[in-house]
Amino acid sequence: ADIVSATDLVRRYGEGEAAVNALAGVTVAFAAGRYAAIMGPSGSGKSTLMHCLAGLDRPTSGSVVVDGVELSSLDDRRLTELRRDKIGFIFQSFNLLPVLTAEENILLPLSIAGRKPDRAWFDELVQTVGLTDRLKHRPSQLSGGQAQRVAVARALVSRPAVIFADEPTGNLDSKASAEVLELLRRAVDDLGQTVIMVSHDPEAAAVADRLVVLSDGLVVEDRATQVAVA
Ligand code: ADP
Ligand code: ADP
Repeated sequence: ADIVSATDLVRRYGEGEAAVNALAGVTVAFAAGRYAAIMGPSGSGKSTLMHCLAGLDRPTSGSVVVDGVELSSLDDRRLTELRRDKIGFIFQSFNLLPVLTAEENILLPLSIAGRKPDRAWFDELVQTVGLTDRLKHRPSQLSGGQAQRVAVARALVSRPAVIFADEPTGNLDSKASAEVLELLRRAVDDLGQTVIMVSHDPEAAAVADRLVVLSDGLVVEDRATQVAVA
């Protein structure tokens, strides 16, 4: 089944002569439990699509459905709740809170929701991302790769239905990139998560099951990638 789908999405910026259709009519659906990469040149609409799919931005027209819920039917408060309950985010710039420890950053989505962590799950997650001995460190005391692994754990801690990753390897060296990509792959294969990732990085796209290519606000290519079946 599709966990995220968009129909005829248009996102226009500006008015009249200066108007730009960042999305010019995008229809695309993402199956649950799969890993999709969105690529395309700078300015092709990748960030705009991601933000509309994740309920961070409202399209000019068209519809987005996340886990059966039409986003345009939600007011801002309900949209925030849906993001909190169903979506995890990973950003290029990590977006960790500098005053919190790694552990506190990972637990933040649960703290915000007023939920208690499942300790066994937390321990397993921390072990999986290799941060057991970094939990009391603050972001400034972590390498980029470690910081992004904190962000991956934060995105997974509440077991959201779908994880959006925006250039997750953009600030990482190749070794740290490979580690983060491996974690996202395992989130899909071992935990049944859905990952939707925007990336410029061909190595990142290579770990996905599917490649969606945008150009000038339209999907111009959409195909399965060859993934070695374990
Ligand atoms: P990408 O992520 O592929 O680089 P974006 O989604 O950021 O592309 O941008 C798509 C198009 O929309 C570009 O032409 C960009 O200049 C324009 N755009 C994006 N955000 C805004 C904005 N807030 N105001 C005006 N134009 C924007
Ligand atoms: P960019 O891709 O332009 O470098 P980011 O990926 O850091 O920017 O953020 C993209 C958008 O997501 C911004 O509009 C920001 O307000 C929003 N955002 C950033 N962090 C979060 C978060 N943890 N939860 C929800 N929205 C966020």
